[in-house]
This record gives sequence, structure tokens and C-alpha cells, in this order.
Amino acid sequence: MRPPDSATIFDVQRFSLHDGPGIRTTVFFKGCPLRCAWCQNPESLGPHPEMAFFADRCRDTRACAAACPRDAVSARGDRIRRDRCDACGACEPACPHRALERVGREVPLDALLAEILRDRSFYESSGGGVTLSGGEPTFQMSAMGALAQRCRSEGVPVLLQTCGAFRFDAFAPHLRSFDRIFFDLKLMDPERHRRFTRADNPVILENARLLTASGAPVTFRMPIVPGITDDLDNLSAAAAFLREIGASSLHLLRYHRMGEAKLARLGYPLAPLAMGAGDVGRAVARAAALLAECGIEVAV
Ligand code: SF4
Ligand code: SF4
Repeated sequence: MRPPDSATIFDVQRFSLHDGPGIRTTVFFKGCPLRCAWCQNPESLGPHPEMAFFADRCRDTRACAAACPRDAVSARGDRIRRDRCDACGACEPACPHRALERVGREVPLDALLAEILRDRSFYESSGGGVTLSGGEPTFQMSAMGALAQRCRSEGVPVLLQTCGAFRFDAFAPHLRSFDRIFFDLKLMDPERHRRFTRADNPVILENARLLTASGAPVTFRMPIVPGITDDLDNLSAAAAFLREIGASSLHLLRYHRMGEAKLARLGYPLAPLAMGAGDVGRAVARAAALLAECGIEVAV
């Protein structure tokens, strides 16, 4: 069990320029209630630390097997038997070829805050701050809220990236800690949402509605995944929904394929999407034009 006053994260990226305005530190929380077929951060899906196995680095020295106290290294295929592995990490330093890496760590919030505050001068000079990302930060609601509140008390602007799948009554007490919330819509049709994210969307849509009604500073976003999220029905339904709740803009995110290679390393059964990388630019341009016709202001 995670110690109190700590968070399970899989990375902290300093000097990030892509997760909000200015120079930012992005904290990637582990754990997500969704399983989007296009997920680009599959190392964030599981809530606990886990082992990644890089088959291309493995030279079959079997040093990992000798180091493992749980007989969790298999003789073929995926090197880690995940039903036995407890991610103790003993095999990681044993491998001379760095074929095993522990993904995720439990970090006291004090230590996370200290790391974030190292770059305070950069936030001040660039209009940046800290971004809480994942995974889904609200999956660790109390740790997320406590970290956001501490950052805010230190004068560091806080941005949250969320898939919107949370209990609103649990989230509401933390609302004032955020300078901005990036809220991702994906698929408007409930069946298709369930099929491609393995989660229902009514709660997500209701949270989008409640957040907008509360006056919270929300930026809605949508990943453009060709053949999945970019069809006329989905985009026009998204535009109608945004207008209905009083939002007027949508930020489009370009799908990229970085997540696919990570899936196998972590032993996840998610199927990679069969899609040409060249499709994405055209799909984004088409989606932007269509949304603009529906009266939605588009950012890319
Ligand atoms: S992390 Fe620990 S239990 Fe898992 S394979 Fe490595 S040594 Fe074995
Ligand atoms: S919500 Fe984000 S982190 Fe969660 S599965 Fe979807 S893309 Fe991945």
C-alpha cells in the first residue's frame, strides 16, 4: 500500500514546453480508469509500479532470473511472468544490458514539491508552472489535491490534465487549486466510447458540464485518431455538446504512435491501431475545418 502523503508516479519531466503555457514541470501520475486504444502513455495505466522488458536489448544472459526472488522470469516470450512479479526491481541492476526497467515509484509529496520548486524562476520568467498529468491524476485524488494545493500555496501555477472520469463530489474541494484544467473529450457516442476506451462516457460528459457551469477555467481537448475520433458524427456531436454547455473552443491533439512500442514492453494486451502516420495531419486539418463550420473555435 502507498504510504500516506505520497504519490505513485512514473515520471517527472522538467523544462516541458508541451503541457501548457511557458516552461513547466510535468508530473505523470500512475493509474487510469480508461484504456484508450490509442493511449500514448501505457506506462501510466496500472496504478502500481511495474516492470518493463525491452526485448530488443535482451542478450539472454539470464542474469535477471538469477536475481529474481520470486521465480518470475520466464524462459521464453515475455521475460516477466506478471502473475508472480511484484516489481521489487531486483532484476533491473542485475541485467548488464538494461533490458529491465522498473516503471513507477512512490514519492513523498514533500520530495515532489521540492523537485517542482527547483525551477520556480523559470516558471516566473516564462509564465509556466506545474502540470499534473498521467495516466489520470484524479485516480490518486487526495495525493493530487494535496500536491496541487501545496504548489498553489508556493505561488506555482497548477494545470491539470484529465480524462474527466472522476467523482465530481470528490474533485470539487480541489477545484480552486487549478489555474487551468485540460479536459479531454474522446468519443461522444456511448457505445463507441465504451468500445475504444473500455469506459462509459456519461460521467465524463456530466463532469464537463458541471465544471463549465462552475466557471472553472477549462480547456477542452480531443485527440484526433484517424478512423476513430475524426468522423463527421463524432465531431459534430462534440461541437453540439460544447455549444450546449456554453463552451466555444476545442484544442485538437495529434495522435502519434509512441505508445505502441511501450505496450509490448509492459505486457499489455491492447492491440496497436493499424494506421499510417501520414494520415494524422490530414485528419487534423479536416477536423479543424469541420468544427469551424459548426461554430467552434479550434486550436491545434
Ligand atoms: S521485479 Fe522482482 S519479482 Fe519481478 S521479475 Fe524482477 S526480480 Fe523478479
Ligand atoms: S485517458 Fe489518457 S492515460 Fe488514460 S487510457 Fe486514455 S489516453 Fe491513456
